[in-house]
Amino acid sequence: MPRQFFVGGNFKMFDPPNGTIKSITDIVHNLNGAPLDPKTEVVVAPPALFILLVREHLKAELEVCSQNVFDKPNGAFTGEISAEQLTDSGIKWTLIGHSERRVVMGETDEFIASKTKAALDGSLSVILCIGETLEQRDSGRTIDVVTRQLNAVKAKIGDWSKIVVAYEPVWAIGTGKVATTEQAQEVHKAIREWLGKEVGKEAAEKTRVIYGGSVNEKNCGELARQDDVDGFLVGGASLKPACEFCLFLFFSAGTGGEC
Ligand code: PEP
Repeated sequence: MPRQFFVGGNFKMFDPPNGTIKSITDIVHNLNGAPLDPKTEVVVAPPALFILLVREHLKAELEVCSQNVFDKPNGAFTGEISAEQLTDSGIKWTLIGHSERRVVMGETDEFIASKTKAALDGSLSVILCIGETLEQRDSGRTIDVVTRQLNAVKAKIGDWSKIVVAYEPVWAIGTGKVATTEQAQEVHKAIREWLGKEVGKEAAEKTRVIYGGSVNEKNCGELARQDDVDGFLVGGASLKPACEFCLFLFFSAGTGGEC
């Protein structure tokens, strides 16, 4: 069975006009009307404040994802949201391990692994982000870094069937500097080989490995044609004013096009 193509939109905490009730409602309206490829799984991750608004208005075929989740099921943890609270609100996905959380919030491999376990225990599916910095790439350590990040998660979970791995080179996120198709395919292939060796043949065959980092309507077509690229995690371009309708169309069809 071929792996179902997967497209995630990470809305981050971008300034208005992208992060207001009006702008988020407009995006939902556009997505509801967009002729997205029905064979593609599409998931959007709005800021926490807008999760319920988006879930209430987004058509049921499209899923909503939290940008974060805590690693405990309940307790005195001011400001945090648990997996159980998300599932209770109709949210089925969460992002974990985004480089902005690793770097800006100081989240460690171990904490990310704990959050992944808590998310799965709470019945969420997980977009697990991994990737190297420019300095790590330049010193030839890309595969070592993503392997270390994956190993940390493997130490805490055994079942990878609800995980989508997002390879997001840190140097490509929000920079306009997309990985070449060769760079992306090389790392995606290594991730799949790791899955085969460390988790099992079925996990290697079935786990979606998606690419994130300055994906746009012009570069997504060629990336999508790589054997081990099963979709995208898109930040800035998922919010391009007035264009997210056609961008999601291009992304979801994996074809690319002029916007
Ligand atoms: C992201 O935030 O996951 C991302 C890939 O951002 P951008 O597409 O803006 O590089």
